[in-house]
Amino acid sequence: MSELLKTKFDELMLLVQQKPSKQALIKWLLFSGGILILIYVYKASGIGKLFRKKPRAIRDPNINSTHRSKQSTLKENEYDVCIVGAGPSGATCAYYLAKFGYKVLVLEQKYFPREKTCGDGCTAKTLAYLKEMGVLQELEKEGKVASMGSGGIVGPNGLSFIENSGATIEKISGDNNWTPKAIKRIHMDEKVARACQKMGADLKEGMDVTKVSRNFVGLKGWSIVANHTPKEDGETKQVKFLASVLVCADGAPSKLATSLKMVNEEPQGISSRVYVSNHKMETNCIIFYPKPVLPGYCSMFCHSDGDVSLCTYIVPGGKPTKDDLGKLHEYCTTEDPLITKALGPNPQWQQMKAAYLRLGGISNSYGDNILVIGDACGLINPMTGEGIHYAMDSGKMAAEVLGDAIKGGDLSKNKLKLYQDMWEYQFANDFHFSNEAAVLVAKYPLLLDAVASAVKKKGGKFLAEFAMVSSGVKSWSWFLRPDVALPLLLEVVLLSIFGTPKRQK
Ligand SMILES: Cc1cc2nc3c(=O)[nH]c(=O)nc-3n(C[C@H](O)[C@H](O)[C@H](O)COP(=O)(O)OP(=O)(O)OC[C@H]3O[C@@H](n4cnc5c(N)ncnc54)[C@H](O)[C@@H]3O)c2cc1C
Repeated sequence: MSELLKTKFDELMLLVQQKPSKQALIKWLLFSGGILILIYVYKASGIGKLFRKKPRAIRDPNINSTHRSKQSTLKENEYDVCIVGAGPSGATCAYYLAKFGYKVLVLEQKYFPREKTCGDGCTAKTLAYLKEMGVLQELEKEGKVASMGSGGIVGPNGLSFIENSGATIEKISGDNNWTPKAIKRIHMDEKVARACQKMGADLKEGMDVTKVSRNFVGLKGWSIVANHTPKEDGETKQVKFLASVLVCADGAPSKLATSLKMVNEEPQGISSRVYVSNHKMETNCIIFYPKPVLPGYCSMFCHSDGDVSLCTYIVPGGKPTKDDLGKLHEYCTTEDPLITKALGPNPQWQQMKAAYLRLGGISNSYGDNILVIGDACGLINPMTGEGIHYAMDSGKMAAEVLGDAIKGGDLSKNKLKLYQDMWEYQFANDFHFSNEAAVLVAKYPLLLDAVASAVKKKGGKFLAEFAMVSSGVKSWSWFLRPDVALPLLLEVVLLSIFGTPKRQK
């Protein structure tokens, strides 16, 4: 069925590129409209859910009884769970496990505050976690949070729509925390790590985990060896810990999960990030889709200290490869007429940094006494490059599954598979849709112009909903709604007949 739809779609794109006759267009619009209505009715009626098995944790609300029931008998260097990496995934997992009463160790190779190369865009889901942890309130008090409420998108041919979508998002949702915010990771990650510490997790910084092995004597589970370098100049020493469960939360390169053969692929994407000051940006968030970068893009988010974080994302699906990052970053920041215009005549650049993006989820994120979460598990959206809220969601899911498993005394692979089922149930459809969308927009950049043009005609509510979909608040199936898909299709047809206006300088 999906192959048939793909073929029909390719035929349609071929047709509109050849300036079709009215009759052929009407035939195609009716066909596509009919298909979309069928898909929408299928989804809206919930028939599909009858065929998909919900993970037990979602079916059974009792799974939330994950709290420790017995007093811990663990020795000083023994833990229920050892988490490697205190980024958003590791720290969130530790926060909930500590809340459930478990003895949790978090080993982080750096000392906070530590930099993380990121676009610093926080979606509504991320903000909800930060609020629950009390972190958002602290950051707001310290003036480190900037709203991304006004902004928009610029299509590959320069069609653009910029508006205060934040006000509309707030109106639709009734909550100002649905509007994405920009928070520098150097501030956010430290607060999240401190929140897990306050909740009772044992966070040890300056601990580079170098070796893990199965432990069969005494506490069954894992023996973890780390090189500890004291903050003040001092000799690096080896330290050893024991834990029943190991959680790999060591980010996209995930050396640990790779060494354990849980992760077997290279990260598929990469992104650069540079902070820019002395710019002339008039709104606080713009997404540019320059043709040479597609299906990747370039984002500019304004921070509360006046800096803009400018990222160039390279994701699979089109021509650019990871090796092209340097030249495409250079293109976006010095040649693209619309980006350079937004930056103004005299931007001041900090050092460009780059980091990998592991995309779309891994097939095996669980084993006996082990889970892989966050970027290490590939939980980054394949089209948008966003990963913070998936990281935090996966951290919480892992904590719930582990809490239940430790309490029941069963840490087997079979038991921990529930974690993979849970994140697949929540994210796999959207990741799949994003993957397909990436391939489509790389092949037909016109589709993104059609989005920009439709947003321009339909106004702020449409942009607000598009922003909610692309930031993971709403499902990507929004694109299948007839009141969304049909106007988009019409724009594609109109743009292919009348062409896009010349790219404005
Ligand atoms: C350029 C760029 C821009 C991005 N922009 C956005 C954005 O705007 N919005 C968004 O939502 N997402 C964005 N992402 C994705 C986001 O950064 C990640 O999804 C998120 O950081 C994942 O969190 P994590 O905790 O899984 O991993 P990380 O944040 O990478 O944390 C991993 C931690 O593990 C530690 N560690 C690693 N190895 C060891 C070891 N051996 N021993 C001890 N500790 C170790 C590291 O020091 C680090 O603190 C971007 C990514 C990139 C590269």
